[in-house]
Amino acid sequence: MFPALYLTRAEDGATRAELRTLSQSDLPEGEVLVRVSHSTLNYKDALAITGRSPVVRSFPMVPGIDFAGTVERSSDPRFAPGDAVVLNGWGAGETRWGGLAGYATTRADWLVPLPAGMTAQKAMSIGTAGYTAMLCVMTLEAHGVQPDAGPVLVTGANGGVGSIAIALLSRLGYMVTASTGRPEEAEHLHALGASGIVDRAALSSAGKPLQKENWAAAIDAVGSHTLANVLASTRYGGVVAACGLAQGMDLPATVAPFILRGVTLAGVDSVYAPLERRHTAWQRLAAELPIEVIERNTRVIGLGDALTMAPHLLDGRVRGRVLVDMNR
Ligand code: NDP
Repeated sequence: MFPALYLTRAEDGATRAELRTLSQSDLPEGEVLVRVSHSTLNYKDALAITGRSPVVRSFPMVPGIDFAGTVERSSDPRFAPGDAVVLNGWGAGETRWGGLAGYATTRADWLVPLPAGMTAQKAMSIGTAGYTAMLCVMTLEAHGVQPDAGPVLVTGANGGVGSIAIALLSRLGYMVTASTGRPEEAEHLHALGASGIVDRAALSSAGKPLQKENWAAAIDAVGSHTLANVLASTRYGGVVAACGLAQGMDLPATVAPFILRGVTLAGVDSVYAPLERRHTAWQRLAAELPIEVIERNTRVIGLGDALTMAPHLLDGRVRGRVLVDMNR
């Protein structure tokens, strides 16, 4: 028997979220059975738990878009009992049962072995948000953005993606400006590696199609008017990696930055990213993200606490990453 968050849908369409005790026979079929030691509370998990957005495709559902733990049983030769593994995305917590539970089943193709030096706790302190931040950094690099290119803007700076993007970029030598609605967290953002801070209010309303050329590149976790303004204020030839929608799904922009300044808008998806890219991202996270950054940026909760924290996260009141420790 093990604890799990369990989502059901009422007749009126409302999501009901509770902490339940399940047995292994309740789990869906899967090539690999993982004993989950740590998971996280991501933005998408909070949407699933609160039902604020229809991210869950079938009910009942165990939420949790990521988890880390130890293989207990595997019918695939690539994994053996005792192997430390991490999983992100692939529909976990959306189309199939996810990681906010003591055990999870999965396809072997979806698992990544934990790199040397990476514990399950560290992997989930980074979580899908941190892994997505690394994918964004890799995207800027693939488009030729060098550390000496000039200021790189990170939006949603105090969130999971933003905070780790700042830490990664600054350690690679980029000059980082953080956009935030929480100026009171300036000290924390500077400690992560931001050299400049801008008030997100300056970016969050409708703006001109072309604005002062401020940014050599940007990582945007916010979408909507913010992304439109970021594009409009990116320098000639600059690159914007877009991964999130914390302000909104819309993009009220013009083509002016693309056709007059050669700006590139590069989309970043973590859910169905190819395995090779995942391996690279996790290897680099193990090597490039110091433990003190992770510890400073993470709060630890128990499984049941995720239910009460989910609405706070969606309201932008949680700083950094939320680690769920199954043994708490
Ligand atoms: P968090 O909730 O941790 O952070 C989001 C941050 O965005 C907040 O901390 C806040 O930062 C800022 N924010 C919140 N609301 C608004 C608003 N209305 N207007 C402007 N800024 C706002 O989420 P994550 O960092 O985990 O995820 C960020 C986004 O990235 C989400 O939309 C998520 O769905 C998406 N995502 C996408 C992935 C992909 O594969 N493409 C993978 C992982 C996440 P501050 O207080 O500093 O302003």
